[in-house]
Amino acid sequence: MSLYYLGNHRTDEQLAEMRRLEADGVCLFCPEHLARNPSQRITHRTTHWTVTPNEFPYRGTRLHLLLVPDEHVTDMADLTAQAQQDFWVALTWIRDHHALAYYSLAARNGDCEFTGGTIRHVHVHLVQGAVDDPQHQPVRTKLSSRPRDVDQLNAGGP
Ligand SMILES: [Zn+2]
Repeated sequence: MSLYYLGNHRTDEQLAEMRRLEADGVCLFCPEHLARNPSQRITHRTTHWTVTPNEFPYRGTRLHLLLVPDEHVTDMADLTAQAQQDFWVALTWIRDHHALAYYSLAARNGDCEFTGGTIRHVHVHLVQGAVDDPQHQPVRTKLSSRPRDVDQLNAGGP
């Protein structure tokens, strides 16, 4: 199983990065790499989860964090019971630390081909919309996708 699904890349830069990481066998969200990635600031750790700002926040967000479990699984339901329980500890820390009165969560589970996902390591997006901006548009993200023929992408083609 590959680490990345190239069919859902958003930019050429991201595609090139995903190819490089795949070739090196590096899952960016596994703890040994997450902790060493200089562009990924870690704001909090619980026993099983890392909280980190999204490097590429969704448009219209005031806050966009990722909750990443240590375990390399593609589905929240496949996490150990301890990691599942600990999710609520991480979430509560974020809510209290940032004094959030409202926020939204999104997670893509299972096959990236169908969820719009790019990395086969489950993670949860936490967003708070910048609703006090008079130009605010509702935050949107892709939560489904039709599988693409990625043979050409995997081979390094366009
Ligand atoms: Zn991983």
